[in-house]
Amino acid sequence: MGLIKTNDKCIGCNKCIRACSCIGANVAREKERGNIIEVDPKKCIACGACLDACEHGAREYEDDVEKFFEDLSKGQKISVIIAPAFLANYPRDYGKYLGMLKKLGVHRFISVSFGADITTWAYIKYITEHKFYGGISQPCPAVVGYIERYLPELLPKLMPVHSPMMCTAVYARKYLKINDKFAFISPCIAKKNEIDDPNNQGYIAYNLTFSKLVAYLKAHPVNGAQPYTDEIEYGLGSIYPMPGGLKEMYTGFSGKMLLSGRWKESTTCMNTFVATKTVSRTAGPTICL
Ligand code: SF4
Ligand code: SF4
Repeated sequence: MGLIKTNDKCIGCNKCIRACSCIGANVAREKERGNIIEVDPKKCIACGACLDACEHGAREYEDDVEKFFEDLSKGQKISVIIAPAFLANYPRDYGKYLGMLKKLGVHRFISVSFGADITTWAYIKYITEHKFYGGISQPCPAVVGYIERYLPELLPKLMPVHSPMMCTAVYARKYLKINDKFAFISPCIAKKNEIDDPNNQGYIAYNLTFSKLVAYLKAHPVNGAQPYTDEIEYGLGSIYPMPGGLKEMYTGFSGKMLLSGRWKESTTCMNTFVATKTVSRTAGPTICL
């Protein structure tokens, strides 16, 4: 079952096809009311571009918000790890939303900014020790999914370092000894694919996208909740999701401008950089975000 679906509002206008980087991910089907465009889950990387492109509200996605609250209400022990972009997106209500989750029974609250610090440390170590230039960072599961499905020759170019989300989960399990189920408060539909990857299974159980989580909390007010915040300190990790954030962190932690080459953000990267395979021909120090 795929993460992206077409609903009954589809009028077959094809704008989703134009927005999509993946040939064959959108498939025309003839219905009584005319052609509609459905999604082939084997070819879709869940980048979400078609949700933005569709002007008819005909594309939907799935996450784990309903299941998370159902399991929480049954008394399952769950801790959350929180993408730094959640604070950036909801600066006034961040504490309020975390407080509501606390009141509903969430155990621990760990910011992924901490995991971003670990990721950057690992990048500095790996690049320094292996002189690994011309690589592609892999916090974006849509980019990784694209390379896995469409450009497997670039797999050796992927940086062999977990995303900040996974670094946070591994640290929380191994060093903080938190044995709860983890839910990721997430800016990204495709994170579900990273969570379910066989290499990562057992760490994170739920992908809670910002918009669906906030919609649920607004629809289900929690009486008596007090503002709460994330629990462990971090360094520069909160800037990680900003454009060029990894580069800034690399420079900030290493004190070096080693990565003075080209930096690309994920969508641009996928469409114009990775797709033309320039990464594989790059001689200089480039990391593609
Ligand atoms: S899913 Fe949206 S963009 Fe795609 S064909 Fe249907 S209406 Fe058009
Ligand atoms: S989510 Fe991305 S890959 Fe999947 S159909 Fe939409 S645009 Fe294509």
